[in-house]
Amino acid sequence: MPSPLPTPVRDDLVAQLRRQVSGPVFAPEDPGYAEECRTYNLMTPLLPEVAVGAESAEDVQAAVRLAAEHGLAVAIRGGGHIVATSGEGSLVINMRRMNAVTVDAEARRVRLQGSVLWQDVLDATAPYGLAPMNGSSPTVSAVGYLLGGGHSPTLGRLLGWAAEYVTAFDLVTADGVLRHVTPDSDPDLFFAVRGTKGNFGVVTALELEVFPFTRIFAGGLWFPGERMADVLTSWREWVAGTPDELTSSIAVQRLPPLPELPEPLRGAFVVHVRIAYLGDPEEGERLIRPLRSAAPVIFDTVADLPYAEAATLHLDPPEPLPYVDRSTGLRDLTKETVDALVEVAGPDSGCVLASIEIRRLGGALAREPRTPDAVPTRGLEFQMFAFGVGPVETMPQLRASLAGLIEAVRPWHDPRRLVSFLSPDEAQQQSDIEELYGPERYRRLARIKQTYDPANVFRINHNIAPARPA
Ligand SMILES: Cc1cc2nc3c(=O)[nH]c(=O)nc-3n(C[C@H](O)[C@H](O)[C@H](O)COP(=O)(O)OP(=O)(O)OC[C@H]3O[C@@H](n4cnc5c(N)ncnc54)[C@H](O)[C@@H]3O)c2cc1C
Repeated sequence: MPSPLPTPVRDDLVAQLRRQVSGPVFAPEDPGYAEECRTYNLMTPLLPEVAVGAESAEDVQAAVRLAAEHGLAVAIRGGGHIVATSGEGSLVINMRRMNAVTVDAEARRVRLQGSVLWQDVLDATAPYGLAPMNGSSPTVSAVGYLLGGGHSPTLGRLLGWAAEYVTAFDLVTADGVLRHVTPDSDPDLFFAVRGTKGNFGVVTALELEVFPFTRIFAGGLWFPGERMADVLTSWREWVAGTPDELTSSIAVQRLPPLPELPEPLRGAFVVHVRIAYLGDPEEGERLIRPLRSAAPVIFDTVADLPYAEAATLHLDPPEPLPYVDRSTGLRDLTKETVDALVEVAGPDSGCVLASIEIRRLGGALAREPRTPDAVPTRGLEFQMFAFGVGPVETMPQLRASLAGLIEAVRPWHDPRRLVSFLSPDEAQQQSDIEELYGPERYRRLARIKQTYDPANVFRINHNIAPARPA
């Protein structure tokens, strides 16, 4: 995309930013620009006109004001885990230097700055015997995750969507104003921010409830991929009857031959069942017994663990990778769904995807929140997320495999799905986004967007376009 600004104007913007912002400012020709714009997916770096490394809320305010004055869109980089577009022609605000955690143990609350990673939250809360509703990856930013709704693979089915437990935001809106947003101060913004990622502004900090969990019965059971049909069948029957204290997912994986993987998993085709149970370990063991007889277990890490150790339950790859991904909501997982999955990804399929994961939702994830939010997935039964890893020349094949997978499960498609798992390839049309949120919720969001961001400054995301003024 050609630069939206003539060079002298761009240079003037960079100079103004350098005068007004305490953190570093990078133009594309500057050393450090590539590092500042790096993301977890090596296929989708950010490519803005200018990147600002914010060190304070004031830096964020100045960057938003100057971007708006110059007609540039603002892209927000938190932990850099799933960016929606490359942000060409935009101003990126990188939040990675704003990563403080403050614990109020008595109130069971934490205050998180704009890009603190889950591992840092876990490390800060564990000494107080408290646990956050973290996700599957310790290196995802807590704020980015919470803004997308936040499905916790440990506490999700017991407590619901993690965004429900945010009690306040410090938010810089498109006019550059820093607002302290609570359900009482700005009910519309408080509703809209939870479930739409960065559509309504930059969160410089938020307050979040945490919970008194110190231990969890959790881990993984790995089965040979050749027994995929048996394991998926057992898991689908088993999760239908599990209590809300138990959260589980299943992943069909073609693992790389990495030396850090234990021998039975290195380079293997496996089915990985993840389990997290918040109760007595003996009861947990009894609950998972039917799964153990699905097929021979080749690797087993299920144990009574300190809560913080369950943060790596899914064993998500810790380092950035080149990958493409797709996701879909599933309204059911029937015998026929299992057949369709085995055909497209089973032992005889020739499938090359690294992982196809299905998360069981339900439990408290289906319940209405205490304070309304924009999370669109209540009532969704299952969420599927798949990715393929490889060098750039393999991407067409990987994209075709992902498309084949999504097509194979289309009969069970549910338009609702986790906003947090939307890939750059997905939901690029406004009609897709409308479908995902549902017409009523989308119309309300578009009206709130019109109030707070009429010029759609925050559009480098899965975008909610401002409603047309009446
Ligand atoms: C390996 C892996 C595991 C994951 N596991 C889970 C999981 O268990 N449960 C789950 O729900 N999700 C999960 N996700 C999805 C993840 O929660 C989302 O992609 C989340 O948005 C990532 O946030 P980030 O800040 O790290 O990423 P970024 O790419 O930096 O940010 C993504 C978007 O979030 C918004 N954003 C981030 N920070 C801010 C901020 N301070 N202010 C305003 N907007 C902001 C922006 O719109 C930005 O474009 C996972 C993703 C990966 C890659």
